[in-house]
Amino acid sequence: MFNFDFTDIAIQVIYYLAAILFIFGLKQMSSPKTAAGGVQWAGVGMLLAILVTFLFPNIHNFILIIAAIVIGSVIAWVSGKKVPMTAMPEMIALYNGMGGGAAAAIAAVELFTLVTDSTQTLPMTTFVLAVGGALIGAVSFSGSLCAFIKLRDWLRKAIHFPMQQGVNIIALLAAIACGAAFYTYHTPILFIAFFGISLVYGILMTIPIGGADMPVVIALYNALTGLAVACEGFVLNNMAMIIAGTVVGASGTLLTQLMAKAMNRSISNILFSRFGATGVGEAVVGTMKSMEASDAAMMLNFVQKVVIIPGYGMAVAQAQQKVWELASMLLEKGIDVRFAIHPVAGRMPGHMNVLLAEAGVPYDYIADMSDINNDFASTDVVIVIGANDVVNPSARTDKSSPIYGMPILNADYAKQIFVIKRGKGAGYAGVENTLFYNDKTRMVYGDAKNVMTKMIQTLKEND
Ligand code: NDP
Repeated sequence: MFNFDFTDIAIQVIYYLAAILFIFGLKQMSSPKTAAGGVQWAGVGMLLAILVTFLFPNIHNFILIIAAIVIGSVIAWVSGKKVPMTAMPEMIALYNGMGGGAAAAIAAVELFTLVTDSTQTLPMTTFVLAVGGALIGAVSFSGSLCAFIKLRDWLRKAIHFPMQQGVNIIALLAAIACGAAFYTYHTPILFIAFFGISLVYGILMTIPIGGADMPVVIALYNALTGLAVACEGFVLNNMAMIIAGTVVGASGTLLTQLMAKAMNRSISNILFSRFGATGVGEAVVGTMKSMEASDAAMMLNFVQKVVIIPGYGMAVAQAQQKVWELASMLLEKGIDVRFAIHPVAGRMPGHMNVLLAEAGVPYDYIADMSDINNDFASTDVVIVIGANDVVNPSARTDKSSPIYGMPILNADYAKQIFVIKRGKGAGYAGVENTLFYNDKTRMVYGDAKNVMTKMIQTLKEND
């Protein structure tokens, strides 16, 4: 006679359903058009994965679980409602860290049973996965928190000290050694040392990163969190965690590769040698020439081809609606207008695409760097709106610059360049931008939204 355990079957079915919803949600997230729906589908999957916990027969601490769900949900709901679009990258870094931390916490609970109960053992494979997941999760947790602090500008962009690479490698080896020794010696000291050193390693790995390498690191932590969750999924024999973790790990790895490609660095180069790139770039000689917003707008009446380059400043000013309004007016005049997006523009992968999609810019007008970079020489006017590092020509020539080697949008090849920014503020990499001193460049000073409003007004008055 077959002996069916219906509760177990129900649990496994719900976990598979949750995993399918995660995959479906992720697929939807690959296009800005369907991304919001994708987040909701994945959210439903997550809700199912949480609720199924209550079906496990050996789980009794319901009060603690419900309290954690309520506290977590309230904090996430309130912060999600309150967070401005400009703080979204930090929030994502924080949530990513929470995922890694949760995976490390699961491993800590499993491994701690070895400390408290001397009769307990774990099969070798389970132990390796638990320790591996714990290490990766802890590094992702502290590293993502460090990235959060850097994105908030609470910490200097890059912190360096002598023999940094050597210290980092020793810390990593020490964490691995403690984890390996714990297999034989289940002592609290080894347990604490393993988790402590892993957390410190995450910080050590992130603090030297400055310049413009942060996007790669954020994507890398995303991949690591997925990997840690998948490892702990094997430890707990939890299908939803294995599938979701693998999917996040794989997509995070692809994103890391794309970001590394955008920075023109190999991943091994970033991991083992470029972390810690220093330098502030050569001093720039010359003067910046300014122009009134109304004059810049008037000049647009006499051009045929315009490329708009949005950057982090457009996000700060929340100017995307106005930018699209201006672009629409130019399109109505028969001018060829396109948006050029640099892969690391803004403060999170896809930042500019999200903002332009939110403003209703059709995808046909948006071009990736590789598709548009050869067109700048035939462009009459480039309008740089709150972008800085992604159009800095010294990335091509100045070996002392922290952004040296990063491919940039060739704005300087255009016939005329308008740069809209509030003043002489540097970009994320903190270096001077030679484009601003170019004879073809005119600085249109002001908040991006105000400048856009003035330019639109001028065009309307002179229609
Ligand atoms: P930058 O950070 O290089 O420059 C933004 C510019 O916007 C500043 O120079 C600032 O000058 C200007 N600005 C700020 N507020 C306003 C405003 N209200 N109105 C008008 N201008 C404003 O931006 P980019 O997008 O060019 O480059 C992104 C940088 O961030 C790259 O170095 C990238 O590596 C890094 N990064 C990217 C991440 C990603 O995933 N995309 C993640 C982490 C870092 P001023 O103060 O004078 O106005």
